[in-house]
This record gives sequence, C-alpha cells and structure tokens, in this order.
Amino acid sequence: MRKALVFIFLILIFFLFIIIYEDDEIDQRDDYREKRQSMVLNQLRSRDIVDPEVLQAMLTVPRHQFVDEHIRDSAYNDYPLSIGEGQTISQPYIVALMTQILELKGGEKVLEVGTGSGYQAAVLAEIVKEVYTVEIYDSLSKTSESLLSNLGYKNIHFKIGDGYYGWGEHAPFDAIIVTCAPDHIPPPLLQQIKEDGGRIVIPVGGIWMTQALMKIEKVGGQIKSKGITGVRFVPMVGHNR
Ligand code: SAH
Repeated sequence: MRKALVFIFLILIFFLFIIIYEDDEIDQRDDYREKRQSMVLNQLRSRDIVDPEVLQAMLTVPRHQFVDEHIRDSAYNDYPLSIGEGQTISQPYIVALMTQILELKGGEKVLEVGTGSGYQAAVLAEIVKEVYTVEIYDSLSKTSESLLSNLGYKNIHFKIGDGYYGWGEHAPFDAIIVTCAPDHIPPPLLQQIKEDGGRIVIPVGGIWMTQALMKIEKVGGQIKSKGITGVRFVPMVGHNR
C-alpha cells in the first residue's frame, strides 16, 4: 500500500514538473514574440521600413535563436550584437533596410556575402526562392547551417570561402547583399548579377571610417550606383585585405 502511494506521488510530481516546464517555454516564446512585435513597430515601421514582405519576415524570424544564450534578452534591441570570431549580427533596422533596398518580390535567387549568424539569410529566405550564402570562417558557416536547418529552412545553400569572388556556379543572381565592408566593389560581384535589373546592396569603405551603404543596379548591362546612408560593418577579409 505504501509503495503504491509513493509511486502515485512520484507520478504526480513528474506531471507537475512537465506542466511547469511547458508553461515556462510558452511564456518565453510569447515574451520573444512580443519583443519582436515591438521591434517591428518601434524600430522599423517608425523609421522608413514599409515593404510588407520585409516587415513580415522580421516579424517571423526568431532573432533570439541567432545569438548566444546569455545575450538572448537583448536580441531585439536597437543595436548590433556579438556572434563570436570578432563578428557581429547587424542591428535589426540595418537588416531590414538592406533587404528593403533590394526590392524583392519572391521567386528571386539571392547571394549573401558574410553568413555570420545566419539571421540575414533567414530573413531573405522568408521572402525569396533561393538564398546562396558565403562565409569565410568555417566555424560560423557550420553553426549557422545547422541552426537554419533545425529551424526548417530548406532554401538556403552554404559555402565556406572568400565571398569577394561571389559564387560563380550559381550566377547570375537577381540580387546580392554584402554584409561585410570591402574598400572597393568586388568586380566578380558586378559580373554575377543579371544584366537587366540585377542589384547589389553593399557597404563600401575603410575599417576605421564610416562606410557608405550603396545600391548598385545593372540596367541593360550598364552600372548605376547611389549612396544610401553611412554605416559601420566589420571589414571584408580575404582577397580584399
Ligand atoms: N549577415 C550576418 C552578419 C555578418 S557580420 C548576420 O546576419 O549575422 C559579417 C560577416 O562577414 C562575418 O561573419 C565575417 O566573417 C564575414 N566575412 C568577412 N569577410 C568575408 C569574406 N571575404 N567572404 C565571406 N565572408 C566574409
């Protein structure tokens, strides 16, 4: 009889533990969803992010999963965060702005240079058909590849290498986004966008200065470029330095 009571007691404790644990998970998920909503409202909509596809993608991608556990609570704040190897995940507004500049409609093939945490790749993957992303540090590439596959993304393709040279096998791309700063526009990237309507968004400039965020467009094979705003990105290493 006593044994049976102890057994029932243990079963009860077990279920209580499961209920408390699950509640906690739901609380956390809701907490992050709220933070994400407020990020979209206060950091993106209140500035100049109006593209509905971009706003929806920023609302969907769980940014807190892309940073270390001890800084998760800051994941939705209005600044960049460290992701290891001396690299950073860009401020949410800059991710949204660069994505919006590319004027994506869905169905495109996009190249990203600088996979980093994989966050920008996920935002792109929510909108376009295929994302190709190149990262020079193999540890960063491998970590983000396993995270993005755990999150269920099937349209992101990874390469470890020097993104200065783009990814020729899959060119031409509708668009290229560069998330590290070279001191000049890499000629291979200019060659790898479509002759008509291909575009690149890229920060260009030296390490210790504010870089210029540029939009480059090819129209009928001709290059047009314009400066958007000043930004600070980590430098492009490899061939460029
Ligand atoms: N897009 C990333 C942010 C990247 S930070 C994100 O959403 O988290 C810039 C990244 O560019 C770093 O991971 C850095 O290692 C990478 N990088 C620097 N030079 C590179 C090069 N030549 N080719 C490819 N990646 C490069």
